Amino acid sequence: MLPYGRQSIDETDVEAAVAALRSDWLTTGPEVERFEAAVAARAGVPHAVSVTSGTAALHVAYAATGVGPGDEVVTTPLTFVATAAAAALQGATVVFADVDPGTGNLDPRAAEAAVTERTRVVTGVDYAGVPVDAAAFRDLADRKGLLFLEDAAHSIGSTLDGRPVGSLADLTTYSFFPTKNLTTAEGGAVVTADDALAARARSFKNHGLVRDRAAQRYPDEGPWHQEVHAFGLNYRLPDVLAAVGTSQLARLDAFVARRAEVKAAYDEAFRDLDEVELPVRPEGAAPAWHLYPLRVPADRRRAIFESLRAQGVGVQVNYIPAYWHPVFEDLGYRRGQCPVAEGYYRREISLPMFPGLTDADVERVVDATRHALATAR
Ligand SMILES: *Cc1c(COP(=O)(O)O)cnc(C)c1O
Repeated sequence: MLPYGRQSIDETDVEAAVAALRSDWLTTGPEVERFEAAVAARAGVPHAVSVTSGTAALHVAYAATGVGPGDEVVTTPLTFVATAAAAALQGATVVFADVDPGTGNLDPRAAEAAVTERTRVVTGVDYAGVPVDAAAFRDLADRKGLLFLEDAAHSIGSTLDGRPVGSLADLTTYSFFPTKNLTTAEGGAVVTADDALAARARSFKNHGLVRDRAAQRYPDEGPWHQEVHAFGLNYRLPDVLAAVGTSQLARLDAFVARRAEVKAAYDEAFRDLDEVELPVRPEGAAPAWHLYPLRVPADRRRAIFESLRAQGVGVQVNYIPAYWHPVFEDLGYRRGQCPVAEGYYRREISLPMFPGLTDADVERVVDATRHALATAR
């Protein structure tokens, strides 16, 4: 089965991991600092805080914003559940707003209509790698006094009007899961230009420990002393994985370039089919295509999906609307509240998309997809 996503690991990544394993530092060492500096440089901001997953990055980001019980977070339902779950875990109320029918990204007008006096954060997701309309969310956040968070699990390497994803929002989160645009096996990061948000993120991912004597309440306790001012967790990315990340980052441009070639080949192959809709690229966006979301007729989506799987093409569906998960249903969220996102979901199939796809693989996916579209009922 051809997978829908897959890591690209080479000998330099293997050597980087092995060198870290042989060093004095398996975790909390110099490879973590090196990786964070490289991620921050790529994002075009001063601060990167590495963590153990994209979900941890979201949790750390929400903790840094200080959202809690009584606060509302407006976000998209067309995402992996973690975007919403991490806010709910902090005690915030998640409010889902509908998406743009073309890109599948959170619609700034729908988000604005969902804002109340309790809203503290608006979280966009760069679906498939396409950056959200950052100027509109910046404007909304400034007018309403909110923080703008960007879940960029799909979009490290994307740019908007020449600016890198990571520099567009108050806080941006990345995932380095194997299917994402670059990997550390498990891993993630929060990037920001804001010193205070960065400090809170860094503290939360390390138990909330305060080591700086100047900031301690009891600095004279002794040379061993460190103290906790706010609860945190241990979300530290080990040096072994950070070293892989730094090695991978050196090839991000090549990964993005191959993804663009695959995207162009699919577009070309399906352009003549009027029963499908191809991914939409907004003006000014240069996406690192994490997914290739093809939209097919809703009433045949399942049959087409099953046909592709039967032909050995490992397709996926991204995503079931987040509030369809029973955990949200049990909280009173109901189907039908974001009809555009639900309609997008009902037609969506993600075709294989990763840098290691050969031209022959792409041709095979194209043939299988055209066959499925012609025959599956
Ligand atoms: C993958 C993903 C996450 C979670 O990242 P993990 O590293 O798997 O924890 C969050 N949001 C989106 C949109 C994702 O695709």
